[in-house]
Amino acid sequence: MKHNYRILLAGNPNVGKSTIFNTLTGMHQHTGNWAGKTVSCAKGRYYYNSDEYSILDLPGTYSLYESSPDETAATNAIHKNDYDCIVIAADASSPERNLDLVLQILSITDKAVLCFNLCDEARKKGIDTNKDKLSDILGIPIVFTSARSGKGIEELRRTISELVKNKIETRPLKIDYDENTEKYIKILSDNLTKNGYNAISSRRAALHILRSKVTAPVRIKNEYISLSLPDSKAVRNSITASYISESRRIAALCVTNNSKKSRSFRADKILTSKLSGIPVLILLLALIFYITIIGANYPSQLLDMLFEKLGAVLYKLADQVSMPLFFKGLLIDGIYTSLSQVISVMLPPMAIFFPLFTLLEDLGYLPRAAYILDPLFSKAGTNGKNALSVMMGFGCNACGVTGCRIMGGMGQRCVASVTNAFVPCNGRFPTLIAIITMFIIAGLPEKLREPAGALILVTAIIFSLAVSMLVSRLLTRALHISDKEPFIMELPDYRIPQIGKTIIRSVFDRTVIILGRAVMVAAPAGAVIWLLAELKINDTALIEHLSVLLEPLGRLMGLDGVILSGFLLGFPANEIVMPIILMIYKCASGMTETGEMQGILAALTENGWTVKTAVCMIIFTLMHFPCSTTLITIWKETRSIRWTAAGFFIPTICGIIFCTAANLIMSIWF
Ligand code: GDP
Repeated sequence: MKHNYRILLAGNPNVGKSTIFNTLTGMHQHTGNWAGKTVSCAKGRYYYNSDEYSILDLPGTYSLYESSPDETAATNAIHKNDYDCIVIAADASSPERNLDLVLQILSITDKAVLCFNLCDEARKKGIDTNKDKLSDILGIPIVFTSARSGKGIEELRRTISELVKNKIETRPLKIDYDENTEKYIKILSDNLTKNGYNAISSRRAALHILRSKVTAPVRIKNEYISLSLPDSKAVRNSITASYISESRRIAALCVTNNSKKSRSFRADKILTSKLSGIPVLILLLALIFYITIIGANYPSQLLDMLFEKLGAVLYKLADQVSMPLFFKGLLIDGIYTSLSQVISVMLPPMAIFFPLFTLLEDLGYLPRAAYILDPLFSKAGTNGKNALSVMMGFGCNACGVTGCRIMGGMGQRCVASVTNAFVPCNGRFPTLIAIITMFIIAGLPEKLREPAGALILVTAIIFSLAVSMLVSRLLTRALHISDKEPFIMELPDYRIPQIGKTIIRSVFDRTVIILGRAVMVAAPAGAVIWLLAELKINDTALIEHLSVLLEPLGRLMGLDGVILSGFLLGFPANEIVMPIILMIYKCASGMTETGEMQGILAALTENGWTVKTAVCMIIFTLMHFPCSTTLITIWKETRSIRWTAAGFFIPTICGIIFCTAANLIMSIWF
């Protein structure tokens, strides 16, 4: 008979859990070389010998008891006890540190298999673990894997299957605690046994109660058990110390360490030093943008040409089938045009930026960036962990907001979520790149254009981040948010990324998904804009009414009513703001050429754009309300209408203020 078994995948952060999960299930969960990347559980399944295995990949955790909010999900799932087996993933290149969590989990469950991953790295470092001896001491099966290359995964599948079918016997290691702790364990477990627990589960529950930071009486079955132990903290510390010393003892027995000073250690002398850390970070970002700017131009032109040709074919087809004018306009001028613009303007920069950024992430650079930026973020009232959510925001602000879970306190999380909108997401980069290319660097000698473009983009981003830090500081001070935690972050070893795989996965998993979302929004948006341009009140199109309404504010900000209409109508996705602006201009003036850079430039200058408009547009692109998905995510994460409203209004008000100031200054200057 076919069975369904439930498996939990637990372990310290950054030991390859998501990679193991992906290899087992064939799914594509986000992997990245830094602790704190996985903040929610991922579910998947695989089949083995016609049985089904549902597997839950838990966020990484260092301890089952000292959890930060994102780790609580893992702790709860493990304590819930409704699984057939736990796979404990551990880093084979750092056995002693990982054994602590292994021992904690073994104090809760019998059904566990230890998956010693990253064996290829351990071998390179000269760290060798005696598998049989370790398995004998821990009393559970052990599988050595190198999940990235799939090595050992088949053995892991087989071992899990044998374990859940009771073909392997386990006898998890029991730790002896000190006399005092054993005394309390006995008091509590006797109480639990009286309430119907069997001996093993009452000892486990007693230990759990003692290690938890619970001080109120706990209700067990029908009886309240008081936990007001005279020295509860001392008991907790003593249990922790027992795990640490036991990990050390076991590692000394089973691990041979012939490692030399790693290359990571040497590289960090430059990459994380006080003197060179920030300049290197800026240079790296500039290099990524430089490659993006250079690379995006040609495919953009090519795509535009293809779409123009296809558009002509569609027109012909529509004529041949005598399509009514209304539908021809709606389908081709509305939906097709907006789709083609979103793809030709957005796809090339995204397809270059994402893989480059993922390579940096896989290399292990992101936690270093967090470390370098910690002093700056500390001045802003948060800490270096905020830098990680900022980095995630470069891809997508909604992901950045979810990533704020790694911030300790709720107040810190809310502030970091609200200020994430100041990070230009991937949907905004193409707009920024297009404007910088057309208006700011066009007059420079050809050789200087791309490097200057990259530097200007980095400067614009630094400016936006500086404003976000200022907002953080003001918010944390004004609201007396003081739940800041000390910044402790593991710096993983640098890992050589799998370049081919990274490029393919980041194009398919990130670019295509984000582009797909933009396309889904762009098609109806194109139809709505076309309708707004066609439907008239008092002989004036609705879209013009909207633009006229916003014109005074737009002018004050150095923009115009059409641009602000574009931002408003582009609320579902930032990717469509520029195409909407172009469509509105086109509808209003009957322009035809809007696709490739020269055409866009002509369309914009025809509508009064100058360098001043471009600068103000850059500022407002950096600072305005986030897209609807991000706002919904802020609400989901904070469950607060006030913080969600703050997420909408704070960046928008900053954008209005800075645009107006820039407009005034440039008007006086020029
Ligand atoms: P998680 O945080 O535990 O989910 O870890 P991930 O699955 O995201 O992996 C962390 C990093 O280790 C990523 O850069 C992976 O590509 C890399 N990685 C995972 N497994 C292996 C492995 O067996 N060998 C090597 N060399 N790298 C691995």
